[in-house]
Amino acid sequence: MAVDSNLSSPLGPPACDKDAKALRFIEEMTRNADAVQERVLAEILSRNAETEYVKRFKLDGATDRETFKTKIPVITYDDVQPEIQRIANGDRSPILSAHPISEFLTSSGTSAGERKLMPTIKEELDRRQLLYSLLMPVMNLYVPGLDKGKGLYFLFVKSETRTPSGLLARPVLTSYYKSEHFKTRPYDPYNVYTSPNEAILCPDSFQSMYTQMLCGLIERNQVLRLGAVFASGLLRAIRFLQLNWVELAHDIRTGTLNSKITDPKLKNHMKHFIKPDPELASFVIQECSNENWEGIITRIWPNTKYLDVIVTGAMAQYIPTLNYYSGGLPLACTMYASSECYFGLNLNPMCKPSEVSYTIMPNMAYFEFLPHESGSTRIVDLADVEVGKEYELVITTYAGLYRYRVGDILRVTGFHNSAPQFHFVRRKNVLLSIDSDKTDESELQRAVENASKLLVELNTSVVEYTSYADTETIPGHYVIYWELLTKADSANSSNLPSHDVLNQCCLEMEGSLNSVYRQCRVADHSIGPLEIRVVKSGTFEELMDYAISRGASINQYKVPRCVNFTPIMELLNSRVVSVHFSQDLPHWTPERRR
Ligand code: AMP
Repeated sequence: MAVDSNLSSPLGPPACDKDAKALRFIEEMTRNADAVQERVLAEILSRNAETEYVKRFKLDGATDRETFKTKIPVITYDDVQPEIQRIANGDRSPILSAHPISEFLTSSGTSAGERKLMPTIKEELDRRQLLYSLLMPVMNLYVPGLDKGKGLYFLFVKSETRTPSGLLARPVLTSYYKSEHFKTRPYDPYNVYTSPNEAILCPDSFQSMYTQMLCGLIERNQVLRLGAVFASGLLRAIRFLQLNWVELAHDIRTGTLNSKITDPKLKNHMKHFIKPDPELASFVIQECSNENWEGIITRIWPNTKYLDVIVTGAMAQYIPTLNYYSGGLPLACTMYASSECYFGLNLNPMCKPSEVSYTIMPNMAYFEFLPHESGSTRIVDLADVEVGKEYELVITTYAGLYRYRVGDILRVTGFHNSAPQFHFVRRKNVLLSIDSDKTDESELQRAVENASKLLVELNTSVVEYTSYADTETIPGHYVIYWELLTKADSANSSNLPSHDVLNQCCLEMEGSLNSVYRQCRVADHSIGPLEIRVVKSGTFEELMDYAISRGASINQYKVPRCVNFTPIMELLNSRVVSVHFSQDLPHWTPERRR
């Protein structure tokens, strides 16, 4: 897309020429949101006119919105899953996209317990890169001097697998970090990381984190911003420091590298980088041995101006902990993206987390909005959404998803030029989330059912349950409250499930949860062992009484399957009779079950 160099930048004075160009691009896209959208749809439909999917709906070469909307249905993943499976199995005919599917991006959203596979094409990398290239020019409007130091970002690749036909299937960030776009990115003084590529690309999460932390400590005075993709990731890094500072300080003192770092590329890089620095080692020991870790981030990295982490949506639960460790540094949520498509960016990144709005960039895909719970079912275009209303996002991508429901609920907060800005409200059907896991009500129900089978021969059943995402510990973990009933004829205490059996129930539940949960537990260590808290009989009745006393209708009362309201938590916790944890890791491998 050509940029009109005569446009000024109403967003603010750019920090450099490159930024000026990026800001002009944002202006141009947002001023012409509707026209850009029309063009994007026409491009997608004309290039994919001969695909099996588009032909099935008899568009006959039409590329206008009217025909598109009358003929192509709004779908979910399950509707397009058969086509996706055929591509995964090796059908190279143009099923969804005229451009060859280059790989699958594995979403953290699941279908039948496995990550959804999102088709992508080579040129999508350029589109993602383009969105990334807009982030620093916007940030530079608010935070001056970011070219005078570095960013300490904890970035990781995750395991990848291949579909039956040999196409790669991996998370979108893994795909991006392994791309030439990232690995051979040109030097940009506003975007220098302390983490070397060798560390980011190391597949072993311990070695990767260890060296990223080591480099961040060595260059502590240069660090101007600290980040990870999600808040949970940054807190995991802090926890890692708590557990490993003695070894890190040893390496800094001696100028040697921990023997646990065995990756040859990493070792080779670090050999040239690490030098003995006893003074820094003493500093690390002094700070980290202090019992009180409040404000540790600003003590170790005193020049940090902000934390760059997503704290919108499910990640909002981590804001108090981040504030504790950082002494209340600003939290910047810069972008909104998914495996299906990158959506947009926050044009006011230093605002309070509760005020974050993302501006969807109209060049990324064709966007539609399904009114959410307002009675209306009329799907509207990007430029036609109304301030204050909530919508579910529906996308049509260059890679071949047509009118696909992403599952995110967004509320319109305003406009930048003619482009709407959205508050991320929530993802549909997510009950529990600690890291990238998303557990819905039916998954939790199935897990409880499977685990409670272990109680059958003890004549015991789970009569009620609810859950809670406990993020007070790092990593956080799922807590499931169980009320048990042991049949009267066998109600002697010896028949009550033993501690061992209930521990086993915890593991059984974990084994029944989706593959993203199990990967977080096994490979990423970003979720701790699942906990079952058995509560006294009658507790859930008390819960209902409490809800009714607060105005709930007795006829319509349903047990909440997830709780986080303090009085309810206090009630539940005061009735706990025993506590049990998973003693092992659930089964997980990178291979998909289907
Ligand atoms: P994935 O399917 O793993 O690519 O995850 C994409 C999903 O993560 C999106 O559809 C959102 O639900 C969530 N997400 C991504 N970016 C943000 C953000 N900035 N704020 C809140 N949620 C986000």
